[in-house]
Amino acid sequence: MKIAVQKFGGTSLATAEARSRVCEIIASTKAEGISVVVVVSAMGRKDAPYATDTFINMVKEVNPNASLRELDMVMSCGEIISGVLLSVQLSVRGIEARFLNGEQAGIVTDGNFGDAHILYIDPRNIIECLQKDIVPVVAGFQGISENGELTTLGRGGSDTTASALGVALNASIIDIFTDVEGIMTADPRIVKNARLLNSVTYNEICQLSREGAKVVHPRAVEIAMHNNIPLRVRSTFSDSPGTLITHQMQGLKNIREIRDRLITGIAHTSDIVQIKIDIGELKERKDVELKIFKSLALAGISVDFINIQPEFIMFTVASEYAEKALAVLETINIHPEIEVDCAKVAVVGAAMTGVPGIMARVIEALNENSIPILQSGDSYTNIWCLVKKEHMEQAVKALHDKFELGNI
Ligand code: ADP
Ligand code: MG
Repeated sequence: MKIAVQKFGGTSLATAEARSRVCEIIASTKAEGISVVVVVSAMGRKDAPYATDTFINMVKEVNPNASLRELDMVMSCGEIISGVLLSVQLSVRGIEARFLNGEQAGIVTDGNFGDAHILYIDPRNIIECLQKDIVPVVAGFQGISENGELTTLGRGGSDTTASALGVALNASIIDIFTDVEGIMTADPRIVKNARLLNSVTYNEICQLSREGAKVVHPRAVEIAMHNNIPLRVRSTFSDSPGTLITHQMQGLKNIREIRDRLITGIAHTSDIVQIKIDIGELKERKDVELKIFKSLALAGISVDFINIQPEFIMFTVASEYAEKALAVLETINIHPEIEVDCAKVAVVGAAMTGVPGIMARVIEALNENSIPILQSGDSYTNIWCLVKKEHMEQAVKALHDKFELGNI
């Protein structure tokens, strides 16, 4: 049995019209003799009536410190609503379908509410559906712990569900349907001439999505990669072939080209706060660096872009944790300087290591646009700069132009 896992994101399910497009995609795949397993996200984007954030806000209005367990219960509702609607709409269209929640789909996770990991999948119910030619419509982003508690899988969780099911069912492809043509050289909402990448490696996409290109979640890419199942990112609303993600770039004959490309694209993340601590004055205090990072870790605050110099320490936290971070630092009598409303722009290219001149071009692009760099760093696969959020879009465009990534 040839199986395709097809995951549909929020915008693909937001209206009856969009869902009817989804039904057509499923019908045409079945017509090719392929068994389809559907995974759904919640309907719509942030602030939509049945979006996950809307449910979280409802609970947090009652109690901002509601337990993670209760939050997971309400956070799992969006996928149930969209999944049931789609399954009912499929039946009306003449395609027999059955909605399965995470537990019914056999998705067993650890007990880490809000960011659970899938331990294993028992696909019995799904296989039973497929054998009866019924399309299983699985709620993404949720599972059940071994103790029988409902859990959710964290950001991008429906992508993860799709990949994990693809592996459990040994699918021939995992299709991630969304509202853009595929993976582009930058977010097409910012860069109008961003180019569609027809074929990319798992490695390139992992890097790009880790740096903020949220079109597919890195965890989902890793799961597919380890099990060598091809992933495809494509649009629900057009017939474009999308982006195929495998171990090798397709269609390249020259052996020298069968590697990651120099620059894959430009990614961005916003809502970052930079924290600067002058430790020059604190020198007499022993192990001050250790105390800072230990106390933040104990409070469960994840820090990024750490830069330790003899006189100061710099790092960033996500804006939502900034207040908590400052409160923690206060308890150890540290009063940092902070820079709110920052964003990170990253030039990503898994083959850039050792290639000279890339940093110079990054600086040139930002200087030409008078964009101050607040901090920078690099790894084997990317160069990133922290800038003010108000400069983020301009910085993404400038870097995209500088590296000539767009359609001409
Ligand atoms: P879904 O709800 O379908 O999961 P997401 O919002 O998670 O959709 O991901 C799709 C969005 O990702 C696009 O609308 C686009 O704005 C954004 N995006 C960011 N970077 C990229 C990129 N490099 N290529 C394509 N889309 C991108
Ligand atoms: Mg998504």
